[in-house]
Amino acid sequence: MGNRKKKDREIKEDSESQKPNPNETRLVKVWRTVGDEKTRESHQLADGQIRLLNDTFVVGKARLMEPRDPLGPPEETFNCRCTLEVVPVSNLMHEQQLDFENVKVSRDSSVTVINMEADRRRNIIDGAPAVFEIADNPNADASAPFIEWPEKSQVFRYDGIIQGEAIRQGVDPDLVRAIMYMETTHGHLDWIPALIDVNKSLLPMNIKTETWRDLGWSREDLKDPKTNIKAGTLILKRTGERVEDPTVEKIASVYNFLGREKVNDYGARVGVIYREKLWKEDAVGE
Ligand SMILES: [Zn+2]
Repeated sequence: MGNRKKKDREIKEDSESQKPNPNETRLVKVWRTVGDEKTRESHQLADGQIRLLNDTFVVGKARLMEPRDPLGPPEETFNCRCTLEVVPVSNLMHEQQLDFENVKVSRDSSVTVINMEADRRRNIIDGAPAVFEIADNPNADASAPFIEWPEKSQVFRYDGIIQGEAIRQGVDPDLVRAIMYMETTHGHLDWIPALIDVNKSLLPMNIKTETWRDLGWSREDLKDPKTNIKAGTLILKRTGERVEDPTVEKIASVYNFLGREKVNDYGARVGVIYREKLWKEDAVGE
């Protein structure tokens, strides 16, 4: 398979020399424990540990992507009640931010690099470890397109579901909100196919029903907004764990098109929506 390759040392060192793009919003994850007497000591020690989304926490002798990581050992995962919080680096305290400014991602060089659309789809469905290469793009156009209709936003309507799903899955709720805002305010041309139920993807997260069928939800299932949001959140989570130096812009670009290898206008626009929290206006608008 020509598109799959092991990441060798030369490639790794080359990518490490790139500076993060200051115009993109980098995301990190934080390990949070309940902090009561039933909490394992190793988890208490992990409390507050910060990692890039595609990196692992060090918990006891294990390396875990998240609390209850299915690939982790039972002694560090069974009955764990810890949670994951995902936030932009800018939300961290200043000293913690410095740690991430020039961070070099120490990734296991045996992790498979996957860049073809169909292979990435399969990989997200399977949940296997992988790297999706995607580059910054300072030339991506983040300005509001002519056809952004803020009054069509459904974020306010579904905010309770978004909050619940994002926290449960360990995804930044604002990332889910920004994607939904983008999808619902730009999707007005879909209304004719939607009337006769032949549109390829379903709002509010604009899930491509055929593409994601193997995640276990049918087209009928995805018509339920709660399931739709759950599926969209899962796709965002798994994408964030796989893109290099994860940013809102990169994750959104891959959400928009799985084969993407460079941030596009969609991703750049979602970055602006995320930072400016444009969905907040739909609570007061109209
Ligand atoms: Zn725990």
